[in-house]
Amino acid sequence: MLLGAGPGDPDLLTVAGQKWLRRADVVIYDRLAPPALLRLCRDDAELIYAGKVARGYTVPQEQIAALMVEKCRAGKCVVRLKGGDPLIFGRGGEEAEAMVQAGCAFRIVPGVTAGAAAGAYAGIPLTHRRDASAVAFVTGQEDPEKEISGLDWDALAKIETLVFYMAVGRLDAVARQLMQAGRAGQTPAAIIQQAATPMQRTIPAELRSIAEEAKKANVQPPAIIIIGDVAAMRKGLAWFEKLPMFGKTILVTRASRQAEGLSARLGELGAEVIVSPTVVIEPPESFESVDAAMSRLSEFDWLVLTSPNGASALTRRLAESGMDARALGGVRLAAIGPATAEVLREKFIEPDLLPETFTTDALAEALTARGVQGKRLLLVRADIASEALAENLRVAGAEVEETSIYRTGRPAALADEAIEALRTGRADWITFTSSSTVENFLALAPSDVDLSGVKLAAIGPVTAGTLRSHGLDPAVVAWPHTIDALVEAIASLGR
Ligand code: SAH
Repeated sequence: MLLGAGPGDPDLLTVAGQKWLRRADVVIYDRLAPPALLRLCRDDAELIYAGKVARGYTVPQEQIAALMVEKCRAGKCVVRLKGGDPLIFGRGGEEAEAMVQAGCAFRIVPGVTAGAAAGAYAGIPLTHRRDASAVAFVTGQEDPEKEISGLDWDALAKIETLVFYMAVGRLDAVARQLMQAGRAGQTPAAIIQQAATPMQRTIPAELRSIAEEAKKANVQPPAIIIIGDVAAMRKGLAWFEKLPMFGKTILVTRASRQAEGLSARLGELGAEVIVSPTVVIEPPESFESVDAAMSRLSEFDWLVLTSPNGASALTRRLAESGMDARALGGVRLAAIGPATAEVLREKFIEPDLLPETFTTDALAEALTARGVQGKRLLLVRADIASEALAENLRVAGAEVEETSIYRTGRPAALADEAIEALRTGRADWITFTSSSTVENFLALAPSDVDLSGVKLAAIGPVTAGTLRSHGLDPAVVAWPHTIDALVEAIASLGR
């Protein structure tokens, strides 16, 4: 199957594309296919790179087609993943022909082509009732083996909107040939580099000066060039580059499974998000004490959950032990905050208590207000957790038992991309969502990394305190202590 991966933003994959990627046995992918999409593939899928390898050597087209045929004949579900749309300057037509010749059944899943994405993300309507009734997609790089350009410049010059692919190195010739064919030198144009990604850059120019402007701005591929009156509309319609976090690089240090919500929200605000988990969540070495506590659930008045991880670990362990939500029927449940409550609700469990602010102190206060004198409380927590909660509750007269249902470990290193962003000063923000993300980040950060130019964001006072204990001052502390508020705090400072 030929599958369009879209222009770069993994969110621009189609729903059909997502379905087939999840199903594929073999995925043969290109350089321009967003790497994040490969994470959608099954763990046992065979992933084969067919882009440019060292020194510009490209896997020959016949070899790719032969590989597709071979895998197809072996009875595999083969996905040929191509950047943008497979049939727009993607040689998808040739690959489809090879499939037909070999008698392999195939289908074609279109993708968002770079030209359409560049228009949308730069705020340039490729057609417009008033200004443009026709649009042409044109390649600037004709087959290098062809001697003469096959393009009809006289015809092209008359089309209202022209969208050039692969033309960065040939802007001079493109502009000259269009003007020779009669297109006005003042025609508005725009170069959109890395469209629909946080690195997008738009360079406006008139047709006559476009090559010069591109050189000045040091434009690099991949880029789309849009020529026509519609290019001038960008001034009013540009929206993407005006997003509050556009152009900002943000490091997210959360455990990878939980980083998604935070990263997605920052990405929606235009930021480039680099996920570098500093915490790995692992099961405890033994479930003995957890199981023992769970077998005596009826003896407790309250079960207290201090993190979403604790809540998921609890529901998972119940399931592994052949139990479900009903096992918690006789005990009251306290959750520290909305994210923890959400994990419970997914399993049809409604917490009985949620403090008004989401700190362990507030949780202790809220429980105390309910009267914990002489009550038995079970704290379900991580292996490393502050003793303060249990202490406060004991002082209030509660009988407190604690069990660690998960461990927080430290990964071997930060992500390479994160280290690079820190070293080059590209990182604008680092988000910390718990004290252990702070401790582990500082332990993993290379010694030559200077954090003085980076803004730090903490989810709450405890995390902020841990930063301060290392001599680091958070630029923002979220209020309330939720992911939404953390994102809002970062965005409002950025504005
Ligand atoms: N099949 C692809 C095009 C492949 S040709 C599609 O439909 O989009 C490669 C060219 O696509 C690049 O030289 C560049 O002109 C364009 N391109 C691909 N991704 C791009 C992006 N994110 N931003 C700007 N141009 C892009």
